[in-house]
Amino acid sequence: MSFHEQHPYTRYDRLIEAYERLGLRKVELATTHLDTPIVAFSKDETEFPERPPVLIAAGAHAEEAAGVIAAWRIAERPGFPGRMLFVPCRDPLGWDGIERTLGRIIGEPELKIAGHEHAVGLFREHGDVVWDRNGMAIAIVGPLAFLSFAPDHPGNRDTGEYIQAYIPEQPELVDVLKGRTLLVPGSPAHAEGRSVYGWGGGPSVYVDETGRVGNFNRFFAAEKPPVEVAALRSFALEQRPDWIFDLHENFGDRFGMYTNSAFLSRGDDVYRAMIDTVIAKGFPIMPLAELMPYLNLPEQAIIELYPGVYSANPKRRLPPDAFGVYASSIGAVCFTTEMGMERPLAYRVDATEIAVRAGLKRIEERWKAGER
Ligand SMILES: [Zn+2]
Repeated sequence: MSFHEQHPYTRYDRLIEAYERLGLRKVELATTHLDTPIVAFSKDETEFPERPPVLIAAGAHAEEAAGVIAAWRIAERPGFPGRMLFVPCRDPLGWDGIERTLGRIIGEPELKIAGHEHAVGLFREHGDVVWDRNGMAIAIVGPLAFLSFAPDHPGNRDTGEYIQAYIPEQPELVDVLKGRTLLVPGSPAHAEGRSVYGWGGGPSVYVDETGRVGNFNRFFAAEKPPVEVAALRSFALEQRPDWIFDLHENFGDRFGMYTNSAFLSRGDDVYRAMIDTVIAKGFPIMPLAELMPYLNLPEQAIIELYPGVYSANPKRRLPPDAFGVYASSIGAVCFTTEMGMERPLAYRVDATEIAVRAGLKRIEERWKAGER
């Protein structure tokens, strides 16, 4: 087997071809910039034809690479007797990273970027640099915007967090980015030998027509979300899954998850099975008290239903802006898995895969017992 066959996820088009080779049914959800299809795959064969499908989605935030790889591994060997839907990668352009996506725009799909100065040079040559201050450059090239940081820029600590906090404070920048997706380089600490301009880089940022700044796990409640969000929203609405696993990663070095289970009074046995199995396999759990300092949230906004299982406080209803919250409006219990990124990628993939498989096992047991 070639490297690309063993690691098809390092490029979106190859990942999609690899899912096709599994014999799953492809569903075209939408097309984003550069004629890039956003697709889902359906495993139709089922011992439970009366049950709605289980949906597994990944890749909303490119640097959270473990989710895309774990979803792929589960698609390869589902081990689950029900119908399954996979959204292999929610942000194809961000997943491919700045090198590949910028390279496609400028007709050099194998482009390699040597560093910040090279990136800025390419921005100037092929687009308009709209921001260049203190080692941070933003350019519009073709239909997209691109970001680069000099190596000593403080934004490198967490590129996605930094830029999402920075843009709203700069009205001129908000204005020029309205309606655009900004591709963000990865954080060097999480690149693990990869280029920060390569695959699994930083999480793409979207600025909507009203000037609101967010990412691809936001805007689910918006009237005009980016196409990546609109596609997943209508697919979920149409397919009506009872259960959703949306695979993400988080601060820290341990496993946890968000869920809307408490809002639907269903699924506490599923998250317990997930957490218990993760612990039994030797992966530690992130208690809410240790996660809170990383989050910029009021004290009572989140409650802990079980060790490492976080929920919005039912006393404070939130707008359904993230996919896991939107799930409530279609009656689906969503488990938003969150592996801590301060671990090697292989470890994070294992923890995520183990958690989802444990959840699927529990759902199968529920079905066999005649429960929803
Ligand atoms: Zn995420």
